[in-house]
Amino acid sequence: MKKKINLSLNCSKSIRRRREIKYVVIHYTGMQSEIESIDRLKNTRSKVSCHYLINRKGLITQLVLDNKVAWHAGKSKWKKLNNLNSSSIGIELVNKGHQWGYENFSNLQIKTLINLCLNLKKKYKIKNENFLGHSDIAPLRKLDPGEKFPWKKLSKFGIGIWYKAKIENVKIQKSKRNDLFFYNLNKIGYRYFSLRKRTNKDKMIVKAFQRRYYSHKVNGFIDQKTLNISQFLANQQNLS
Ligand SMILES: [Zn+2]
Repeated sequence: MKKKINLSLNCSKSIRRRREIKYVVIHYTGMQSEIESIDRLKNTRSKVSCHYLINRKGLITQLVLDNKVAWHAGKSKWKKLNNLNSSSIGIELVNKGHQWGYENFSNLQIKTLINLCLNLKKKYKIKNENFLGHSDIAPLRKLDPGEKFPWKKLSKFGIGIWYKAKIENVKIQKSKRNDLFFYNLNKIGYRYFSLRKRTNKDKMIVKAFQRRYYSHKVNGFIDQKTLNISQFLANQQNLS
């Protein structure tokens, strides 16, 4: 794939083995411009970086080589993992983000992203379910890539999980709905909540889930459809 190389020092010095790469984490830059973003990802004081950045024209800049650990995820959890940096590739999409004017991702950007992900998937044998958004692994801190990111489209290429159009209606007492939802999320891989008691941070988790799977209804309320989706995806976990 055509790419510019513009290396950042914000990465591990040591080399990781190919088989350590198991995840791809997708981000948006959340800054005013591409230049500003690259500056930050290279500035040694920022201590952040990523492997690939894709601009709105669909051009790739590689900032960290795949065999080094880039510092893109920060504090994060997924399934049994803490700190996803060591086992992942981080991809940043240029987008001003929620803070500066969240825009649709461009078609060229998504096209390039799909090609890049398919490449990485093949090269490192990355599973569908291991393509994640930053907000999946840090739901209390992060919103990216956000509700405009086309997860459904990507899933058609085997990049990330999705649900089918007709999913079963989960019948359960209203009072038990919340517990079931969080049980499902735990099974899917989400962390940062308790299975035993509900807290006021839970709403952030619900929103993170909706941002990815029910993007026109990011309200933090577990309605019937939100629950149905969680149930479908949790059941899929048994199969893989
Ligand atoms: Zn991010």
